[in-house]
Amino acid sequence: MSVDVSASDRLAEPRPCGRCSNTALLRLAEFCPDCIAQIGTNPDRTEYDAWRAENHRRVVEGEA
Ligand SMILES: [Zn+2]
Repeated sequence: MSVDVSASDRLAEPRPCGRCSNTALLRLAEFCPDCIAQIGTNPDRTEYDAWRAENHRRVVEGEA
């Protein structure tokens, strides 16, 4: 199994969250873990479902 070093470096870059704008090292589909936890526990599933769909699309299309 080969490791794409440039892709790992890009993932490790601190970037602003697409929802709260806090800089986070780890983001999934633009959201930081705090936001994912918040929308994941929100009784209103609208935002979480949208995020999940976006995350799934990125996985399918091979985007980080
Ligand atoms: Zn956030």
